[in-house]
Amino acid sequence: MHQEREPAVVVDGLRKTYGEKVAVDEISLNVYEGEIFGILGPNGAGKSTTVESIAGLRVGDRGRIRVHGIDPWTDRAALTEVLGVQLQEAKLQQKITVQEALELWSAFYPDPEPWAPLAERLGLGAHLRQRFENLSGGQQQRLSIALALIGRPRVVVLDELTTGLDPRARREVWDLVRDVRDRGVTVLLVTHSMEEAQLLCDRIAIVDAGRIRALDTPAGLIDAASAATITTFETSVAIDLASLRDLDGVTAARSENGTVTVEGAEGVALAVVEVLRTQGVAPQRLRVAAGSLDAAYLDLTETDTDVRQEALR
Ligand code: ADP
Ligand code: MG
Repeated sequence: MHQEREPAVVVDGLRKTYGEKVAVDEISLNVYEGEIFGILGPNGAGKSTTVESIAGLRVGDRGRIRVHGIDPWTDRAALTEVLGVQLQEAKLQQKITVQEALELWSAFYPDPEPWAPLAERLGLGAHLRQRFENLSGGQQQRLSIALALIGRPRVVVLDELTTGLDPRARREVWDLVRDVRDRGVTVLLVTHSMEEAQLLCDRIAIVDAGRIRALDTPAGLIDAASAATITTFETSVAIDLASLRDLDGVTAARSENGTVTVEGAEGVALAVVEVLRTQGVAPQRLRVAAGSLDAAYLDLTETDTDVRQEALR
């Protein structure tokens, strides 16, 4: 359905090295207008390098990027009219107040969105005189989203915007991101949180070690992961595991201490129960669990365990 539309963002063969280090290794992707597109991966995967190249803040060694037809590496001035950016490491001056920051940013654009209603919409209306250093983490993030939106961008880049926020603040920011998209802004969202990617994104690129490992909808990624559905049950009689493995869509079947586990495509649980019935086996404690993006992610990223644990938190 996307094919007829010209993508909002085109990344074609992006490569970026820092000395010997290959940070981004031939990344290509299209982001379509109106999408929330996620770039998901562990720390060091090359996510920020990719989006900062899209935002014209880094220039690739190779490749081609277009944002609504604009080359971000040669035409930063035109780019700022279509792209807003909230950067991972962006820190405002500690003493600046919310209102001062909003006014300062407004001055950068020929036709800024009026900052007062924007601040109100982002829940900052009561904090206009507060200094940046005295805002909570969630308020700081909401301010950085406001600043990214003030130039009426068609595309907004949000890099790890909920990292470090408490669960309530994260949920508020997620609602905001959906609200931004509902207003017609294309969102390019960088995250190392699978939960966030699964909840917010229309499509996700899973990136690891500078390469895209998979690119699909959240449901598509889960289906493609080895354990899309996990069926377990207990039984006191011996089961013919081969008859389960032979079923269409089953990828694995094993038995351990009287508990049988069958992994496979969605819907295999019904076939498993049917086979057991023909064998005269009554399964006990039957459980069917849908696969998750976690399984897909772990399947597709091969970074060392520490980084993985970090990403899983
Ligand atoms: P992510 O955002 O996925 O955590 P980054 O794009 O920030 O990843 O970094 C990708 C890799 O490039 C990492 O190994 C990082 O250490 C390295 N890197 C990033 N920026 C620089 C830089 N300015 N100089 C040298 N190495 C860098
Ligand atoms: Mg980063």
